[in-house]
Amino acid sequence: MLEEQHPLVGWSDVANSPEMVETIKKNKRSAVGWTWVFTLLFPVGFLIAGLLSDEVPLNEALIIGIGLGLLILAINLWRIAGMKKPVWDGVVMKKVEKKRYKRDNDDGSSQSYMEYIVLIRTERGKKKRIVERQRDRAMYDYLDVGDRVRYHPALETYEKYDKSKDQVIYCNVCRLRNSIRNDRCERCNNLLFK
Ligand SMILES: [Zn+2]
Repeated sequence: MLEEQHPLVGWSDVANSPEMVETIKKNKRSAVGWTWVFTLLFPVGFLIAGLLSDEVPLNEALIIGIGLGLLILAINLWRIAGMKKPVWDGVVMKKVEKKRYKRDNDDGSSQSYMEYIVLIRTERGKKKRIVERQRDRAMYDYLDVGDRVRYHPALETYEKYDKSKDQVIYCNVCRLRNSIRNDRCERCNNLLFK
């Protein structure tokens, strides 16, 4: 019965359910809210620092604070604009592991870290990349070459077309790994995309 309700092969209807549409709206509202908080945090923080500290001139503190605030605003507006883009489907073409180096500014030495990249070709022929680092490689392990995937920009998460061989499913709202037997996420209680 459960299998019939949630066939594990195919795109989920959950994304279009009234409940998820409401969750997506809330998600966007909170993204906008946090954008304002962080945009104002820096100017206010540096203003206070400028007023309280004798070492930091007030005008310099304000310039730095407003500059950082605007930078945060730009990054977040860019991200929110991305959340309004249409859903796209694609196929995993390749998975690559790369060793990267990050220079430590303090002593000039460099540190290595791993980057895990999933290359996807969309139905429109565009190339997309999922880039994960170090231990945070959930999608790299979850997706295989040949898998069909759908990207949900409003939630900034991926859905796999064929979930029939999987033991786990990732929550498309909070990204927690759940058992494939769950219908709702154990952490945020939102519907899983199956
Ligand atoms: Zn969740």
